[in-house]
Amino acid sequence: MEKRRKIIMNVSFGIGFLLILILAPLKINSVHQFCPYAAICFGPMILRGFTVYTVTAILGILIAISTIFFGRKFCGYICFLGTLQEYFFKLNKRKKIIIPQKLEKLLSSIKYIIFVITLFLAIFLMQYKYMKFCPIQILAFFIPLGFALLTTLIILFVFGFFVERFWCRFVCPYAAFMNILQIIGKRFRLKKFMIKRNWEVCIDCNNCIRNCPMKIQIMNFEEITDKNCIFCLKCVGTCPIKDGLK
Ligand code: SF4
Ligand code: SF4
Ligand code: SF4
Repeated sequence: MEKRRKIIMNVSFGIGFLLILILAPLKINSVHQFCPYAAICFGPMILRGFTVYTVTAILGILIAISTIFFGRKFCGYICFLGTLQEYFFKLNKRKKIIIPQKLEKLLSSIKYIIFVITLFLAIFLMQYKYMKFCPIQILAFFIPLGFALLTTLIILFVFGFFVERFWCRFVCPYAAFMNILQIIGKRFRLKKFMIKRNWEVCIDCNNCIRNCPMKIQIMNFEEITDKNCIFCLKCVGTCPIKDGLK
């Protein structure tokens, strides 16, 4: 299963990379039109009577529906930025920083604050303020060196090198958006697609928790309902017991 995820993840990354290479030399709006995250940058403009790009609307709706029914599979399988962080963290063979649980919870709330700021900036038609920090825009156009570009690159590549999926866990406003969608659509969630822990055979070795990039306390669940689970299947792959997690 993990192998299949990696194939989908690598192919999606390749497509995303190609799209950036092809679209970046074209006019600046081109990358925005195909960006899966644009739903939260441009979506709120609808409230001001504007229309959004067709691809933006379609991608936003597809990701929202998939999140409500299946959870954050988009993050583990498709997301360009998520994969980029996964690749980058793999380069770190030595100094990996583990964040204590209490601090993890505190830092996790940052993404919700960023999400609310993003929405407000979009409603008041000031997205350009947020977009200076947008990693996709930075990677595509490499806008002139400045505070925004440096901050984003440091978070993505320096923090992300030492702390697994730093951006996903603490910064990504799209993660906050997807988590809120999961709360709203809780009763539509399909249990069949959740990862399950078989506590009857579990030997409490904690391998699953140690290897979870989102630091989910798997031992608290029989079905992993945590909104931050990205379905990377690393817990399943590292469980030493056959069918301990599936
Ligand atoms: S949390 Fe954000 S950056 Fe990370 S995989 Fe999900 S959408 Fe992508
Ligand atoms: S709980 Fe398992 S599938 Fe979910 S993020 Fe953690 S390791 Fe990945
Ligand atoms: S890795 Fe498997 S056996 Fe070990 S604690 Fe997790 S579920 Fe239990």
